[in-house]
Amino acid sequence: MYDLAIIGSGPAGLTAAIYAQRYNMKSIVFGDVMGGLMTENPFIENYPGFKLVDGAKLGKEMEEHAKGLGAELKMEKIKSVEKKGDSFELTSEWDTKITAKTVLIAHGLKHRKLGIRSENEFHGKGVSSCATCDGAFFKDNVVAVVGGGDSAGVAALILSEFASKVYVIYRRDKFFRMQSAYIKKMKENGKTEFIFSDEVVEILGKEKLEGVKLKTGKTLELGGLFIEIGFEPLIPFTTNFELDRDKRGFIKVGKNQATNIDGVFAAGDITDASNLFHQIATAVGEGSIAADSAYLFGLNQS
Ligand code: NAP
Repeated sequence: MYDLAIIGSGPAGLTAAIYAQRYNMKSIVFGDVMGGLMTENPFIENYPGFKLVDGAKLGKEMEEHAKGLGAELKMEKIKSVEKKGDSFELTSEWDTKITAKTVLIAHGLKHRKLGIRSENEFHGKGVSSCATCDGAFFKDNVVAVVGGGDSAGVAALILSEFASKVYVIYRRDKFFRMQSAYIKKMKENGKTEFIFSDEVVEILGKEKLEGVKLKTGKTLELGGLFIEIGFEPLIPFTTNFELDRDKRGFIKVGKNQATNIDGVFAAGDITDASNLFHQIATAVGEGSIAADSAYLFGLNQS
């Protein structure tokens, strides 16, 4: 029996594991990528204490920190969580079963899709949502990034290291979400061309992506298309209880990160907390509060 089972191995989940272990709670973390989505960003410039840090390196440090304190880490996705009496049974995709007194949901968000024809079919055949993972495959290619937030900026900067040209296609007439530091760097690298007030409406190609058609009628010949249009709060496992979620799908939590289900807490981007400001700093904050709340919950139960 674990004191705390954590679903999600990003900054919220790993921080919760660190705090839980320091409260002498027996904790286990389930996830697919240790470090979570931040591992896709090699240019993190706003995590206190680090002027510039590679997200993969920061994720590794958090993983080592949690492991060093005795947390168990499993690279497995959870497929179901069931409340059984006063505890919870978690089953993974590989049918690992564990029971825990408390559960923390911290699996973050999923990449949003454009919802156009061939987007899924060409995924991995020129279409991607991870410039860090796939950027190097596009050496000397012309590529495009769709989106106008920080993810699009980071992707365009990574891609400009490899590609011969990077279009950034944004549906508004100027950037307003993206950090100005990213805009400045894109302007300076000489490889980026901004296409404002336009959208990708069709993916062109036979076996793999060859280009895109835009709403204004223009077509672009491309080797790669990176879709960086934000994230959605999808819950990828089943439960035998109903979690309260807001109308967008974020899990509702109180100030102590507790959900409506006794013993179930949530932290990080999947919650409606921190004013939906999705940052590593806010995920770390929510993860630490959640571990403290799970600890206090356990004290009250015993
Ligand atoms: P985001 O800030 O929500 O931006 C998504 C962008 O995609 C917006 O510009 C949006 O357009 C556009 N978009 C959404 N749906 C679209 C569609 N169907 N077709 C075309 N465009 C569409 O998402 P994000 O950039 O992934 O960032 C998410 C969070 O992570 C943010 O809080 C961000 O600051 C954070 N983040 C931080 C860093 C960093 O600090 N280094 C790096 C990456 C991400 P509109 O603007 O018109 O809505």
